[in-house]
Amino acid sequence: MALQIDAGFECGNILVRSAGEAAADLAIRQDANGSWFQWFYFRVRGAAGRHLALRLVNAGASAYPDGWPGYRACVSEDGEAWTRTETRYEAGVLEIRHAARADTVWFAYFAPYGLARHERLLARAASDGGRRDVLGRSVDGRPIDRVTLGSGPRQVWIVGRQHSGETMASWWMEGALDRLLDPADTVAASLLAAAQVHLAPLVNIDGAARGHLRGNAAGVDLNRQWHDPDPARAPEVAAVLAAMDRFGVDVSLDVHGDETLPHVFVDGSDVDPQTTPAQAAGVARFKSALLQASPAFQTTVGYPPTYGGEEAPGMCTRAVARRFGAVGLTLEMPFKDSLEAPDPVAGWSAQASHQLGRDTLPALLAALG
Ligand code: ZN
Repeated sequence: MALQIDAGFECGNILVRSAGEAAADLAIRQDANGSWFQWFYFRVRGAAGRHLALRLVNAGASAYPDGWPGYRACVSEDGEAWTRTETRYEAGVLEIRHAARADTVWFAYFAPYGLARHERLLARAASDGGRRDVLGRSVDGRPIDRVTLGSGPRQVWIVGRQHSGETMASWWMEGALDRLLDPADTVAASLLAAAQVHLAPLVNIDGAARGHLRGNAAGVDLNRQWHDPDPARAPEVAAVLAAMDRFGVDVSLDVHGDETLPHVFVDGSDVDPQTTPAQAAGVARFKSALLQASPAFQTTVGYPPTYGGEEAPGMCTRAVARRFGAVGLTLEMPFKDSLEAPDPVAGWSAQASHQLGRDTLPALLAALG
């Protein structure tokens, strides 16, 4: 019997071209109203005992084709625990191989993080002393949630998943919140005494629900809208920025995943020609504290200072640094693996992202100065 393959669930993404008893030709669906695709997440049924060979035939035309060499697909036999499986990229086709034991096997670009888990995270933060509110609504009408912790005079903002396919940002948020909510943690206590910490963990919630890589429901890259967000086409950014205007910003951290580079790195507002020495010093303190705290972090490989080009003023880090005189930071995690802290089985993972979230707190405290 032929494999049954579908992505008819939240965050799912795949198109089935043809399916046989163990092999299938598949394609990644493009983001609605946008041109990007790379995120995939689908389920294969009837897999038990078969040596699956799943070919993503349009991989070469994806948003970041350089993301495929050296990449291994994520696989789960229970839908919860994810590891990596044999993957090769050749002539524009990504072929995923897996010897299946379970009848149903899930495949994804990275460990998925759905809306129900996001809701549980918010609920936990609220019940452990965080303040929870809704900053606005997405294009599809979903809530743009915020959690606020702490009572200090400074303002720290942490934004996640402007690019919905970068689910490592959600796993990072769980780690950061875990530590912020731990009353016995002295670093968290110092940070929360120095600042209010505002977290907007899932900015592109429509893209997450729809299984997009990058765009929101209107097909907009939200991380290019921060200089002047259109409330109709980028209401998610308009909502967060309006709240920033009400509270102010001293440090802004925007959490992402990078398709191509096998490293954890920071792209800071210090590369902006308009940066001040004080802002640049804040970025430097953050990096130096994160080097101390995390074996995965490094400062050798990253984006060139010209990254973003003409669109750079619309990126969160750049725009918020300029608007508020803040320390602006973009934290990038790999889809592949971290060459500094490699995991031959799981690659860069939900667990590694979670740990990095924990390890970033002392760096945020250092950035405040
Ligand atoms: Zn991103």
